[in-house]
Amino acid sequence: MKVQLIRNATMIVEYAGKRMLVDPMFAKKGELARGPMPAKDWNWKRNPNHDLPISVEEILKDIDFVFLTHLHFDHWDEAAANALPKDIKVFVQDENDKKVIAEAGFTNLEILGEISSFGDIKLTRTKAKHGKGFILKLAGQVCGMVMKHPSEKTLYIAADTVWYEEVDKTIQKFNPEVIIVNGGDNRFVIGDQLIMSKEDIYQTHLAAPNADIVVVHMEGVYHNTLTRKELRSFVNEKAIEEKILIPEDGETLSL
Ligand SMILES: [Zn+2]
Repeated sequence: MKVQLIRNATMIVEYAGKRMLVDPMFAKKGELARGPMPAKDWNWKRNPNHDLPISVEEILKDIDFVFLTHLHFDHWDEAAANALPKDIKVFVQDENDKKVIAEAGFTNLEILGEISSFGDIKLTRTKAKHGKGFILKLAGQVCGMVMKHPSEKTLYIAADTVWYEEVDKTIQKFNPEVIIVNGGDNRFVIGDQLIMSKEDIYQTHLAAPNADIVVVHMEGVYHNTLTRKELRSFVNEKAIEEKILIPEDGETLSL
């Protein structure tokens, strides 16, 4: 498989000959409205932090289907809704998201289930917990996905989640060889973390020591608190740099 990080959680996964686009946010730098409150360091910059590393045309070339883990502004935006062909297959997490995407004009929608598929690729929805403490209620529902195919390694896309027992259970059940985690340790000025911190990434590694862990959702939005530089020095300290991959925006990993 190939995983190309575009920016934030937006990525292209090439798997068993198909190209899946995950969580497209196509806005230009600073084009989106402010988030609900300032970040932990009190900055309240407009999102996203950077422009896309490649053009939208290039991103959309030969995309076969789309997976939306949830519909927060940094995973689905108006620019993406306008750019995508309305008949492209889109997997969503629930009826609520299906309704929103249908209202945007999309016609080929499916709620990701325990036994979904795209062609001969098996897809399974996984549980996610978008934050710790009271912030979880504000953040709402998210789902992840496991992908399986005889010609490929098993891939687990954890999505916007902190480390918790269901991530552990998914790892024990599916034994994924590649895991993609969202690791920017996003925090608002009040409340706990919203996605994985470096300690959470380390826990994921301990649960799946042989898996390649790809860390995305870094430095893309104003409330990311963990930088790539800081995560790199953490994984070097732990001597796990061969297992924790930290792509730059636009970079493609062959796994
Ligand atoms: Zn997010």
